[in-house]
Amino acid sequence: MPNPPHLSRRQILAGMAAGTGSLALGGPLASASASAAEPPRGLGPVWKIEQATIITMDDASNDLTRGDILVRNGVIEQIAPQIDAPDAEIIDGRHRIAFPGLIDAHNHMWQTQMRGMFGQRPGNLFFPLTRELDDAFRPEDVAISEQMSAFENAASGITTSNDFFDNNRSPEYAEAALNALAGSPIRTRLLYGNRSKTATDGIDLEHLGRLQDSWGQRAGRDRLMLGMAWRLPKNLEDEAAMTMKRREFEFARERGLPTAVHVSGEQHHAMFQALIDGGYLYPGLQVIHATDAKAAHLQALKDSGASLALSPLTEHRVAYGLTRYSHFVDVPRLGLGIDGNGLAGSADMFDTMRLMAMTEIGASHDQTAIDTRRLFSMATSGAAESMGISDRVGSLTPGKQADIAMVDTRALNLGMTGDDPVTLLIFCAKPENVEFVSVGGRAVKREGQLLDLNLDQMLGQVARSIEHLQQARRALAS
Ligand SMILES: [Zn+2]
Repeated sequence: MPNPPHLSRRQILAGMAAGTGSLALGGPLASASASAAEPPRGLGPVWKIEQATIITMDDASNDLTRGDILVRNGVIEQIAPQIDAPDAEIIDGRHRIAFPGLIDAHNHMWQTQMRGMFGQRPGNLFFPLTRELDDAFRPEDVAISEQMSAFENAASGITTSNDFFDNNRSPEYAEAALNALAGSPIRTRLLYGNRSKTATDGIDLEHLGRLQDSWGQRAGRDRLMLGMAWRLPKNLEDEAAMTMKRREFEFARERGLPTAVHVSGEQHHAMFQALIDGGYLYPGLQVIHATDAKAAHLQALKDSGASLALSPLTEHRVAYGLTRYSHFVDVPRLGLGIDGNGLAGSADMFDTMRLMAMTEIGASHDQTAIDTRRLFSMATSGAAESMGISDRVGSLTPGKQADIAMVDTRALNLGMTGDDPVTLLIFCAKPENVEFVSVGGRAVKREGQLLDLNLDQMLGQVARSIEHLQQARRALAS
């Protein structure tokens, strides 16, 4: 294996240690260990990014053209032009842009392996196909999909996802999803929903309540959060269905479970109106999509303190309309989401921001129509607001969790940090430029490589799941 192009100090030290070992050990064992390229490893409790361009997304602090970020025990301790911390492990930040880990304010992580099945012909459109195949999902299909999505998100610099789990068919499925996420690198909120085929199919509130009550014993709970994936009934006039939905909503509200609801499709104006008329808008509710929302509806949302999540890539793909920056920019708690890595194509938040920018610039005939910093907030601090977690993540602020992403600008598509690193990230960056990612201080990507991932094993599981779903598809067609 050839040497990596840029050896870190740690790698050099590791190489020196191996060389010293060869003197003591001698023979083929030592030469084998000396020649093997060391895969990147995790970090200790104290580390420092040194001399990076830093985008803080913290209103109270400026960005730094060159600066250090000191992390101790999972938390950002200090950000300054230069920090003296002899006990810290050093991560080279030169030629790099450090920014808050990206926040994916809306996703459906259970359907990632369906990516190649979606097309733009009547036979393979997203909604009919997922409705057709969701029955075929087993708990293990959900689990591998959630993991695949989480690792892809981490690789792209996404450190938090809001996972609308609407193929939750029994407690076994919710457990499979939660266990998969607990073993994943990122922070996730599982929004507990159901797969409603009829108007009377409701959320398993009994199980959701038990999950919440036993949360203190759950593995991985430091990165897991729980909420409700709520839906309005198809027929908004169906009183029995609306009564059941109200009961679900009130269950979540009384228990302090954050709730998300789709406002989309042909009825989206009526859905938004039903949320307003029913008194459902409140700070614990996140509305999703609302692509062509009326100004009065958005005003009601703003007045209520409820939040909004947009997913430009998928909203365009399923023909909801054009997601216009100017239409939503005044919503204070506003985040962008991937909304299904399969449907979006990939977990690319740069592309998501870029599409939002390009749509607005093109439609307005105005190159200055975008405030790039405001747009970047929709993938960071604003997305954290949208999820109600801005006290912990969303900006590089001392005291917050060390959820940090870093792009290496020494790449053919970047080349420099530029005068305006935010604009560079939005218009030029790609997930493969993300060199380093940490979640709660734990390194999940280093030197461009995901840590703690057996990719061959994962891809084998994904392939078996895809084969199972394809078999189900063939059976339905015959
Ligand atoms: Zn969605």
